[in-house]
Amino acid sequence: MKFTPETYKIPDIPMQPFIDKDEIWEYLHNTVPTKKRIREVIDKSLSKQRLNLEEVAVLINADDPESINEIKEGAKQLKQTIYGNRIVLFAPLYVGNKCTNNCLYCGFRATNKEQIRKTLSDEELVHEIEALEDNGQKRLILVYGEHPDYNAEYIAHTVKIAYSVKKNKGEIRRVNINAAPLDIEGFKTVKKAGIGTYQIFQETYHRETYKSFHPWGKKADYDYRLTALDRAQEAGLDDVGIGALIGLYDWRFEVMALVRHTNHLEACYNVGPHTISFPRVKNASALNINDKYFVSDEEFTRLIAILRLAVPYTGMILTAREPEKLRDEIIQYGISQIDGGTKIEIGSYVEKDKNHNLNKGQFKINDDRSLNEVIDELLNQEMIPSFCTSCYRLGRTGEHFMEFSVPGFIKQFCTPNAILTLAEYLTDYAPADTARKGWEVIEKNLGSLSETRQKQIREKIEKIKQGERDLYF
Ligand code: SAM
Ligand code: SF4
Repeated sequence: MKFTPETYKIPDIPMQPFIDKDEIWEYLHNTVPTKKRIREVIDKSLSKQRLNLEEVAVLINADDPESINEIKEGAKQLKQTIYGNRIVLFAPLYVGNKCTNNCLYCGFRATNKEQIRKTLSDEELVHEIEALEDNGQKRLILVYGEHPDYNAEYIAHTVKIAYSVKKNKGEIRRVNINAAPLDIEGFKTVKKAGIGTYQIFQETYHRETYKSFHPWGKKADYDYRLTALDRAQEAGLDDVGIGALIGLYDWRFEVMALVRHTNHLEACYNVGPHTISFPRVKNASALNINDKYFVSDEEFTRLIAILRLAVPYTGMILTAREPEKLRDEIIQYGISQIDGGTKIEIGSYVEKDKNHNLNKGQFKINDDRSLNEVIDELLNQEMIPSFCTSCYRLGRTGEHFMEFSVPGFIKQFCTPNAILTLAEYLTDYAPADTARKGWEVIEKNLGSLSETRQKQIREKIEKIKQGERDLYF
């Protein structure tokens, strides 16, 4: 079907369609990945230029082992040059699992009578946040089902609570959101509460497939979801995250569509998505889908490397849905953010119970490590775990502050701030062995910075040791 403005009704904003399945398939069917062309595309990306759809199709169609290896190596190199060796850490916090939709892949869906429904009271929310702060968390993503109880005012209310909780030296410095699409007024309301990124995953960009997985409820409206982040932009909320749930439809199509969505946001608002997510479908209570489009670990790694090359400057998130070994391995191909110490059953940070109950959560997570265990592994790999929130708090967002567009940005800001937030963690929360490793990693990384920056950082670290907190550049 060719889209026309008549078949494509965009609520609130007059707009031309931007996902055209025929266009995507045409690229995928007609692009030939010669060795020379693959090399050219990788080189273009390594010079930090965005790839167009034809070039992304070249990488997707390259499926011999040698080319796949070249793509992975390219992604690794690009990640190193753009993001350095820091990894940003966060934790998800599920606020409520009531839901009026019936997404067939999700344990929260309305027809799942096994799911134990719960919304945290304000007091319970405070306790969850205190437990997260006790572990050293500074960045949260609040997650909600889609329900009239979880409207924009309620979301804003929970965000304000999150920022207000301060336990010992702990505090939450950035609250991101993953929730249902809002209207423009709703986005204004949550922006006013001081949120960071608003994430909405399209789940699948393939309209017919979307329809089959979202048979009824508000989420059945593909267009309302697809245009949600346009409404966010209209509301002045320019920090947005996109994503596709990998396993609902052909991953090749979803990767192309994620890039197309990125192009759309860039073309219309001069700033692309802050992050891209690519959760893979995991087991869930009363999961009701077949595995026709499930992707193997190998394909998943490829997909990540291709996305890294396609959108060099966009943050990429890999969550605890994936098992620890795979996460540790895949990080190198382009991941910039991971969660640590994750629990997704409602109220489970306080419960400290390691056993999962699928009927209390959305799906099964496969990396059960504590935040400190994740940090420990990152340090073993000589990466710098970072809790940095400085850009967003200093207003360094939008097109002029794309990390790659400011010369030396990483060395000026990202590495120093990663070091300072790690120093805080090591001082306040880390066991002795982690602390020893952490200070070693800090020393090694200081060596890569200018003399002036090194001196400034050392001064700030001294202040941290004397009890000052939240120091950044
Ligand atoms: N209810 C809101 C919505 O649907 O937009 C918030 C999102 S939901 C709580 C978070 C995300 O988890 C979904 O957008 C979906 O991509 C993902 N998800 C749902 N079921 C999943 C499953 N079985 N395995 C992995 N991820 C899943
Ligand atoms: Fe509800 Fe979101 Fe789950 Fe769909 S994915 S059933 S909207 S919580």
